[in-house]
Amino acid sequence: MNPRDTRIADLLKLSHELGREDRGLAMLGEGNTSTQMSADTFCVKASGTCLGTLQAGDVVECKTSRLIPLLDAEDMDDAEVDAALMDGRVDPAAKKPSVEAMFHAWLLALPGIEFVGHTHATAVNQILCSPRAREFAECRMFPDEIVCCGVASVYVPYTDPGLKLARAIRFQTERFIKKHRRQPRVILMQNHGIIALGKTWQSVLSATLMAEKAARVFIGAASAGGPTFLTRQHVLRIAGRPDEAYRQKALNL
Ligand SMILES: [Zn+2]
Repeated sequence: MNPRDTRIADLLKLSHELGREDRGLAMLGEGNTSTQMSADTFCVKASGTCLGTLQAGDVVECKTSRLIPLLDAEDMDDAEVDAALMDGRVDPAAKKPSVEAMFHAWLLALPGIEFVGHTHATAVNQILCSPRAREFAECRMFPDEIVCCGVASVYVPYTDPGLKLARAIRFQTERFIKKHRRQPRVILMQNHGIIALGKTWQSVLSATLMAEKAARVFIGAASAGGPTFLTRQHVLRIAGRPDEAYRQKALNL
């Protein structure tokens, strides 16, 4: 397979794993995925397609240089955003990109990020639709959560999906990078869902599955009077351990 076909095959693998019905991460048209294709293009799921059954024809190649400037453009109404998305396609005969293509474009431009996966994971959303959403994003409970999901997640208060959400994700992610001096692996959006980002499709899948497991642990621990969170010192110790770095490498994270 040529490198482009391998890329698309990896994106479809990630999409099918995230769309598996038994995992409860995304159903029907929920969620979207993307991958970097070249210096100025990326592929993203088309609007109205299904992650679990995604085909190569359901993926649209878009120009990064057409979509990122929208984040700094004047406010646009829904029809103007739709026109800009259609205009951002490499092939004018391709399907319409997901309305979330704008945040995918921006996240894929971060150093070392080559795959992005967004889902409405059930247990994660149980917490994101509760008053404890920010706490779940900012605290950590167990070592493997740190290995797969990072020392903390970016937290984005509820924002209208589309251009406004892409701007809010940029604002909160830049703040996170300044504060933690590292890239996030997970972004949590209040009353909406999760975005995982990484260099490989496996790292995006692992971060999503581990965040979903952490959410179930959080909910169970809350019913027993918790959770008891790890201290900041313990979190940084796990994040900096050479054996954890080895595990991350071995797991292709
Ligand atoms: Zn969504």
